[in-house]
Amino acid sequence: MTTTAEPEAITTTINPFRYRRRATRVVMVGDVAVGGHNPIRLQSMTTTRTQDVEATAAQAERLVRAGCEIVRITAPTPRDARAIGEVRAILKSRGIKVPLVADIHFSPEAAMAAADHADKVRINPGNFADSRKFAVYEYSDEEYAAEVRRIEERVSPLILKLKERGLALRIGTNHGSLSDRIMNRYGDTPRGMVESALEFVRICRKLDYHNIILSMKASNPVVMIAAYRLLDAYMQREGMDYPFHLGVTEAGNGEDARIKSAVGIGTLLLDGIGDTIRVSLAEEPEEEIPVARALAEMLPAALIEQGGEAGLTGATPSPSWNPLESARRHARTIHLGAAPTGGDEHALVLTPYQLAGTVSHASGPRTLPIAGVAASRAPRPDAVAFDVAGEADLQRLAELAWKGPGAPRTALLARGHDASLLARALEQAEGAYLLLDGDSGAVDGLVQAAHVAGKALLVESASVDDVVSVARTAQGTGLRDLALAFRANDVLSLLHGYRLLAARLDEAALDVPLHLRYAGDEPLIPASAALGALLCDGIGDIAGVEGADGRPLVPLTFNLLQATRRRITKTDYVACPSCGRTLFDLQTTTEKVKARTAHLVGVKIAIMGCVVNGPGEMADADFGYVGGAPGKVNLYVGKECVERNVPEDEAADRLVALIKARGRWQEEGDDEAAAAPERQA
Ligand code: SF4
Repeated sequence: MTTTAEPEAITTTINPFRYRRRATRVVMVGDVAVGGHNPIRLQSMTTTRTQDVEATAAQAERLVRAGCEIVRITAPTPRDARAIGEVRAILKSRGIKVPLVADIHFSPEAAMAAADHADKVRINPGNFADSRKFAVYEYSDEEYAAEVRRIEERVSPLILKLKERGLALRIGTNHGSLSDRIMNRYGDTPRGMVESALEFVRICRKLDYHNIILSMKASNPVVMIAAYRLLDAYMQREGMDYPFHLGVTEAGNGEDARIKSAVGIGTLLLDGIGDTIRVSLAEEPEEEIPVARALAEMLPAALIEQGGEAGLTGATPSPSWNPLESARRHARTIHLGAAPTGGDEHALVLTPYQLAGTVSHASGPRTLPIAGVAASRAPRPDAVAFDVAGEADLQRLAELAWKGPGAPRTALLARGHDASLLARALEQAEGAYLLLDGDSGAVDGLVQAAHVAGKALLVESASVDDVVSVARTAQGTGLRDLALAFRANDVLSLLHGYRLLAARLDEAALDVPLHLRYAGDEPLIPASAALGALLCDGIGDIAGVEGADGRPLVPLTFNLLQATRRRITKTDYVACPSCGRTLFDLQTTTEKVKARTAHLVGVKIAIMGCVVNGPGEMADADFGYVGGAPGKVNLYVGKECVERNVPEDEAADRLVALIKARGRWQEEGDDEAAAAPERQA
């Protein structure tokens, strides 16, 4: 498998069909062991001003009581770095012992001071020895090597001090703050992120210092996953075994942020990658810990801590996708009712149908009242599956079905275990959804009936062989509108089964779209991780998440497609989690901006607490709302600051005016969502 960004071949050793935790050395952060067979460690970061040592200690204490095992504190200056020592003393006086990490940007002096007071120092290789000017310049090999030597001179004193004191270092690359040198040679790519870190790792190794942990954060989970996988591949090649700290940076708040984090962190944990995690929320820091814990506990402890393995055994086909890229798997275009998917079409949302309210066909095509949709801003699902188990259900289906002219907005599918009953239901519904349970006796008849009726057929089974066999039958009959789904009881089996199904279909040249379905208790984290991993692999054309009780989770499904860039149906937010540099109340500001702009399909808005890091870390946002000074906001279009020092109480209005002036405004209620183009990262 090769990356497009790199002429040399690089391969991943991650087995997409089998879990095994990545082997790493153990790095001690204070008393907490990270990597090896240790549990996945939970981290967070304080948001207070570091020199307000009482407030910082109080917040650190709350974090520890919530379950946080490592606390990071920003250290913009040597004074802040020294304040970390005071925070430690306060915590100690309260009987609290927790490793403290100094977060450094730009200031080698602060890093040197931090090495006297913290257990670990985090540096950003994009700005430790460089200030970014967004300059475009072609570096010759000699000039590039001279720059790396300059960095070596700047960072070596810190490494030697950490080595002498037995402290740890995190080399924490951020997608949004790569140095000009890296940007000019590698671009804004996962490969650039990897090289940015490896330059520093090689310096550490030259100095025989190995207490290193690495991170590759990005606000886009697709980019973040690719960067960590690529880092793993390069490190394997260079014989390096340092642990990884995982995080999706500037994820924002609420369900969107949890989904983005679960997609990015969860996918990698299911790969076996990751030793410590931080879920970055623009909320109170202690809110991050339950989400992080749910992710860390998603897999059984026996797999994480005892070197266990799980997954498919025996011969498996070569995957037809590249885990180091995110190209969509080729599937033919099919229709569920009027809605197309597969091909270049965006992913559809299909959920179970639970009626909410009464059905009226009086004024035209059916608008089915669907549970859980009316109260949210999420679009309606493209298709719903109504369970049909007997004659009474067939009658009910007839009442729901629209018989007049015009295409209904939501396709109605009949779902059940009885192929013969579903064949009869095709008269009323736009398609059938067969839950296959071993006995496939009447399936051939249903395939034939769907073909004759010109309706869609979805088939789901816990057996990959059975659904591949249906695909072969359908090919023989000429049925095109077919999609397949796989069923399993746990996240790893679901992930590996869908990957096997995709690989088996591709091996047999059967370009059948896949429906990714997750049903279970507390589905937000496991569904985002398992289905998110598949969507980031490029697998899946239809998605649906439901509770264990069959409750359709329509907004969650749309948010998952948005997080994986498989369907954009609303505004995308990048919001920093805030820290001691933040110049406004991040939480209330984020809510204020969201309240005005949440309906802008496909617009990406960054809300960043400070100008020191904010503009650099906004990644590919269309508009930026950035703390410029106390009570003042700077507004950006892309990376360009277009309005400075806007009073905070006018800033949201001015942001809206800016979006309008740039032609990106949509009035609320414009129903563009369903037509929003798919965007691959
Ligand atoms: S962008 Fe936000 S989290 Fe990053 S340094 Fe500035 S205030 Fe802190």
